[in-house]
Amino acid sequence: MNDKNDSAWVGNELADADFETLAVRAGITRSAEREHSEALFLSSSFTYESAAQAQAVFAGDEPGNVYSRYTNPTVRMFEERMAALEGGERACATASGMAAILGVCMAVLKAGDHVVCSRSVFGTTVTLFAKYMDRFGVSTTFVDLVDLDQWQDAIRPETRLLFLETPSNPLGEVADLEAIGRLAREQGALLAVDNCFCTPALQRPLSLGADIVIHSATKYIDGQGRCLGGVVVGAASVVDEVNIWQRAAGATLSPFNAWIFLKGLETLKLRMDAHCRNAGLLAEWLQFQAGVKKVHYCGLPEHPGHTLAQKQQSGFGGVLAFEVEGGREAAWQVIDNVQIISRTANLGDAKTTITHPATTTHCRLSDEDKRRAGISENLIRVAVGLESVEDLMKDLSLGLERLRG
Ligand SMILES: *Cc1c(COP(=O)(O)O)cnc(C)c1O
Repeated sequence: MNDKNDSAWVGNELADADFETLAVRAGITRSAEREHSEALFLSSSFTYESAAQAQAVFAGDEPGNVYSRYTNPTVRMFEERMAALEGGERACATASGMAAILGVCMAVLKAGDHVVCSRSVFGTTVTLFAKYMDRFGVSTTFVDLVDLDQWQDAIRPETRLLFLETPSNPLGEVADLEAIGRLAREQGALLAVDNCFCTPALQRPLSLGADIVIHSATKYIDGQGRCLGGVVVGAASVVDEVNIWQRAAGATLSPFNAWIFLKGLETLKLRMDAHCRNAGLLAEWLQFQAGVKKVHYCGLPEHPGHTLAQKQQSGFGGVLAFEVEGGREAAWQVIDNVQIISRTANLGDAKTTITHPATTTHCRLSDEDKRRAGISENLIRVAVGLESVEDLMKDLSLGLERLRG
């Protein structure tokens, strides 16, 4: 087993390789069987030739694996491929996206520290900061993702971490990573970006000003809605701390899930391009449908984040939202009448999904917070999958035609 603890390893032959090549080949370590496809090491522990060798591996004097909570060859391949794709020094895989975010908190924060977090982040992330981090003496100020003055004003001497997602869910608001990264550096704080919606196929936050990238691999990295997982990517100084926490806390990624993600990464670029193409066509089409009041997709020229998205991203992503004429009843009518699209809140799947954010993903927000976040009762989110976009249009027409009576 080739233990490459000292640097992100993509292999010399891949040093100048493009993204598509890294997505297929980075991080591969072959066993003595010389298998071609990445091997799935379903083993909780590893054996030694002798007591002396066990001692050497446990002490870190000799490369090798001890126990799969510490390292596992399949998980290691996934980590190395993710580090290569995000352009980070190191990666640490976790049991879920939330475990990745918690891992960052545990690695970089201590009681008395302060966090500035976008208000438009995944709902459970808000809970993690507002409830649990707060309970351990870390306070959080929530700010408007796109209002730089709010970010600046919220920063205090104790601020240690800035946290955001871009583009945001579900309205696709786009954060200025360079500007917010600069604010973080001026303060000596770290900027962590949840890159779940773009994946490194469309956006590489570390090259734009972020210090840490987080993923819920559950979404586009899996790509077919099968497994939960997460990953933290960044400098060794941060990621090694996440790893040390991980060993103590046990929020370990299953090797099976890591293997699924490795296979998912091979087609990531192709899939993301197809998600973007379908979402772009669907967004344009929706704009001209009677019964549709407004479409939110950062790929549309009139979207307030369009110019910034063009600069930071190589595609606009697969998630769009639209408002229908009327209120909750009208939105539910569209959702209830689709026959192909899945009524579920997950995203990043080959299967297109449709959700009513106000009563599902964002149901725990107060009315005031919903208003501020633009989560209106007539808003519908579609995470566009890989089906024929004409079929998706036909499917959405079923409910929209009813709206028109
Ligand atoms: C789903 C999601 C998470 C949480 O990931 P899990 O794998 O479900 O723990 C975090 N951030 C974003 C943007 C997500 O969509």
